[in-house]
Amino acid sequence: MMTCQKISIQALNTTLKCTICRTDIKDNSSVYQSKNNYGIICGRCYQKFTEEDIELMLILFLTYGGYFGQLPKDQFSFFKTLKEIHNKTSINDNSSQIVEINMRLLHKSLLHGLYPEQYQAKLRKLINSPGCSYVL
Ligand SMILES: [Zn+2]
Repeated sequence: MMTCQKISIQALNTTLKCTICRTDIKDNSSVYQSKNNYGIICGRCYQKFTEEDIELMLILFLTYGGYFGQLPKDQFSFFKTLKEIHNKTSINDNSSQIVEINMRLLHKSLLHGLYPEQYQAKLRKLINSPGCSYVL
């Protein structure tokens, strides 16, 4: 399903920034706009990410702030971040809390420039590790 549309900004007399990576979008560039929440996406991000990932990232950055690659990748620890988020959340049988932890962990991963498929690989590794007590 096509959820983004290609638009032209040549007629606009302003500099737009990509909602995903915050790169300036030049006048003669093509940009894409989400039909779901009107986020503007540069051609580079449109090429790098699936439309499903773009829509999810737009929601996460709108909800929690920041942008893709905002923070240094080498200072990010997936497991340490999960532990920090887990410690701030009281876990019970409420599955919405599990979803929130998952969304916050994905958001932090994106801020540090982890691609969604890298996030999924790290999550898969965590779930498959011996002694794992998380079901995200
Ligand atoms: Zn971008």
